[in-house]
Amino acid sequence: MLCYFYTFGCKVNTCETAGMEKLLREEGFETTNDPSKADIAVINSCTVTASGDSRVLGMVKRLKTNNPSMIIILTGCYAQAFPEKAAKIKEADIVIGTKDRKNLPGLLKEYINRREKLCCVSQYEKEDAFELLKCDSFSKNTRAFLKIQDGCNCFCTYCIIPYARGRCRSMALSDLRESVRSLVKEGHSEIVLCGINLAFYGMEWGGSLLEAVKCVSEEGAVRIRLGSLEPERITDELLEGLAKIPGFCPQFHLSLQSGSDTVLKRMNRRYTAAEYEDICRRVRKYFPDCAFTTDIMTGFPGETEKEFEETMAFAKKTGFAVIHVFRYSRRPGTAAAKMEGQVQESVKTERMKKLRELGEHMQEEHLRKQVGRTVPVLFEREKGDGFHIGHAPDGTVVKIPEKNTKKSLRNSLFYVTIEESDAVCCFGSIADSSSANQT
Ligand code: SF4
Repeated sequence: MLCYFYTFGCKVNTCETAGMEKLLREEGFETTNDPSKADIAVINSCTVTASGDSRVLGMVKRLKTNNPSMIIILTGCYAQAFPEKAAKIKEADIVIGTKDRKNLPGLLKEYINRREKLCCVSQYEKEDAFELLKCDSFSKNTRAFLKIQDGCNCFCTYCIIPYARGRCRSMALSDLRESVRSLVKEGHSEIVLCGINLAFYGMEWGGSLLEAVKCVSEEGAVRIRLGSLEPERITDELLEGLAKIPGFCPQFHLSLQSGSDTVLKRMNRRYTAAEYEDICRRVRKYFPDCAFTTDIMTGFPGETEKEFEETMAFAKKTGFAVIHVFRYSRRPGTAAAKMEGQVQESVKTERMKKLRELGEHMQEEHLRKQVGRTVPVLFEREKGDGFHIGHAPDGTVVKIPEKNTKKSLRNSLFYVTIEESDAVCCFGSIADSSSANQT
């Protein structure tokens, strides 16, 4: 039987989908990228926003309509956060929460035998352990994502994730080492560590994210990149340690959400704008060539025009390389959903537009500042637009003309001198092929 996998949402979901693919492959199921050929579809859902839910439900219905005999498995955060709703979706034959993926092969076989709807969504307990879903390769990618942390204890007032993911828990260092060894053996040059709240890695045993990054480096990763980090967990000790790790990529994705202290307070975020600014200053002390990327939300309940302008001014001052802009989405069960002063959608749209324009301008500014620099670029693909495409350590997308180098540079590391930039990437030429680290 052929399985089709589709992932909504974050890098953690991407890792878990790769883990579920491995589980089914080990049971003799084959996978396909073409849903029209598939007998089974595994939809790994996200529920961060209401529009995300609609996209998940839309896909489930579409797949079943196109192929009524297809077995639809709905898993992920939507299923875990809203199990009753998920159980009522008639097109979903099997519903699995974020805690029970290991049961996927068994549930699938049971469904194939009995053809009766199965729901397996167990609630999180305080002492739950980290669920290890091994994935030894990201065949399509040069970079490999590795989920090493799950859950969150923060309860920001707008966020549904703690209800969909349980409390903080971390992958054991021994499992981390083994996972990195197999990813490096598979030829992945860059490992991207990710988690629901990555900066809380190891908190159960008094460990730290720095410990994890050191292990990844010791196991042979050429480059190491970090997923999203909660700003208040950035310490001098962490920064000093990261600065000593060869191949560490200084791209810091620090979720800001708002630049207004009064909004941050209502969001239950654990820093003020001034503290966030100080964190960026300290990061720049250790990584002068770093890049900051961030998430900012508009239209949080009660957000006034003045508070929004504070956010715009703060973002401008911080100089982000990339801003991911989101509109506040009312999530049932969260504290903010009950708050007064819900902002009109038209106002959210207008503020998103302004913030996106600012973000685009700042990205262009950041890319312009790269011109003249020579940076190590890990090439990842040829997209058929006449360029080899890769990433610099700070996350900048770098393109060099294919005509200069006929052979594929996929998974190769070269020094590139940046010669020009546009709104979304930089262009350059190989500085000195002898400095290449052929992998
Ligand atoms: S830190 Fe806040 S926004 Fe991030 S997952 Fe936890 S509750 Fe959600």
